[in-house]
Amino acid sequence: MSDRPSGQTTEPTPETTPAAPAVSGPSVLGRALRWYALALFPAALVLAALAALGRLAAADALLAVLAAAAVTALLALAPLVDLSRLLRFVQELAQGAAPPTPEMRTHGVAAAAAFALSQMRREMRRALAASDRSARSMEDVFDALPDAVVMLDADHRVVRANMAARGLFGRSLTGRDVSGLVRHPPILEAIDQIEGGGRELEFSLPIPVERRFIVSIRPLPGDLAGNAAILISFHDITTIRRMEQMRADFVANASHELRTPLSSLIGFIDTLRGPAHDDAEARERFLGIMAEQAARMARLIEDLLSLSRIELNEHTQPSHAVDVRRVIASVIEGLEQKAAARNVTLAIAAPESLPAVRGEPDELTQVFQNLIENAVKYTLPDTEVTVSIAALERGPVNMPKEAQGPVVAVAVRDRGEGIAQEHIPRLTERFYRVDSARSRKMGGTGLGLAIVKHVMSRHRGVLTIDSSLGLGSVFTAYLPAAAAATAGTDAPPQRIGRPA
Ligand code: ADP
Repeated sequence: MSDRPSGQTTEPTPETTPAAPAVSGPSVLGRALRWYALALFPAALVLAALAALGRLAAADALLAVLAAAAVTALLALAPLVDLSRLLRFVQELAQGAAPPTPEMRTHGVAAAAAFALSQMRREMRRALAASDRSARSMEDVFDALPDAVVMLDADHRVVRANMAARGLFGRSLTGRDVSGLVRHPPILEAIDQIEGGGRELEFSLPIPVERRFIVSIRPLPGDLAGNAAILISFHDITTIRRMEQMRADFVANASHELRTPLSSLIGFIDTLRGPAHDDAEARERFLGIMAEQAARMARLIEDLLSLSRIELNEHTQPSHAVDVRRVIASVIEGLEQKAAARNVTLAIAAPESLPAVRGEPDELTQVFQNLIENAVKYTLPDTEVTVSIAALERGPVNMPKEAQGPVVAVAVRDRGEGIAQEHIPRLTERFYRVDSARSRKMGGTGLGLAIVKHVMSRHRGVLTIDSSLGLGSVFTAYLPAAAAATAGTDAPPQRIGRPA
């Protein structure tokens, strides 16, 4: 029951507080005895005076002094010892030590004061721990900020830098001059002129890969820890700038792609109105070309619309269970004529039973239409295009995290000229073509593989491209299998190896 003032008030001795400097001065007992002597002094003086005046026998006076001493000792010595202990306790507290609460012999004022003091010390410790915790959590928040943040003192030396800043400029930043971090003159100028107010400017860090930032430089209110006077934050806008560039490129590319057939249409219209007005044979020929160009424009617009539709829904994974084999069979049926025109055979190799995939049937039709049509276009005449379907325990390592389970792999293999390695990573970019003239001649829009990539991403799948010059290419689509849904027969899914 240490919450009540008592003769036995105790509190655990603090372990963490550093040892206090020794308190000098008389011991507790010495001080108590001195006060005791002081308390006894007036009575002794009066008795001595009475004895000296002959009013009291010396022996009686001595007896009286001894009696007074005994009574005073009985009444005052214990409170005096307590008082002295309290005084020592207070002195030690004042010197920043962590003395144990003194044990008191009485229940008087000294005991109450000692109890109150130790309560106060406990509260102060609690408040200190809370402020310590709050300082630590501020530090954690500062470190967790996604933007790099650096604080400088008035001499432009780093006093604090968060984790993002250390990642950007190096580990040991404290104490370094800001010009060792950024050498961009407008930023250094803005720091020099901080009295004129804060500024925001754009800045690029070329190494190791170019990154662009909006840098904000602000003065801080005075009296901050570590003399922080200026706050600089770096907000990474690399992705935003890249997106802006991509959008601008895309508009330029799309306009260019549309402008070519449009100019050709305008040219033929002029010719038909003018020189070829009465030439029936030329009119027929020109109208044929015009129809082809108009169809090209229509295809392009259709592909552009598909792309934007898919992009719009890319964050929501489709939920239908789709029988991929059925989708592929119908795509192959639609391409038979085109294949026959080049004497290309279309073959499908699939196990008896396959799990369904989680998908959107129309979008998957578009994926296989684009992949198989490309194979038919780019394979050599008189060869075979093979579509192999297989159920696998898991897809390649770059499958998204949420699609780490079983997959259905569809590999479309052609026997064409193949694609040089340097082109492969860029094939799924919009309008990227290995041979633009050839692609256009074959009616390609340059958007087919971009559409495939976006559909795959919406389906949480992956497209891989393997190609060998002179041998041909294999485009493989890995799609997550739909949970517990099996397409085809009721037999359990047959696991086979990677499609050849
Ligand atoms: P396109 O409409 O030009 O076919 P795609 O986006 O479908 O556009 O393909 C982009 C480019 O990738 C094509 O222009 C072509 O150069 C190359 N490509 C695609 N599939 C194949 C393939 N099976 N064999 C060789 N090259 C291919």
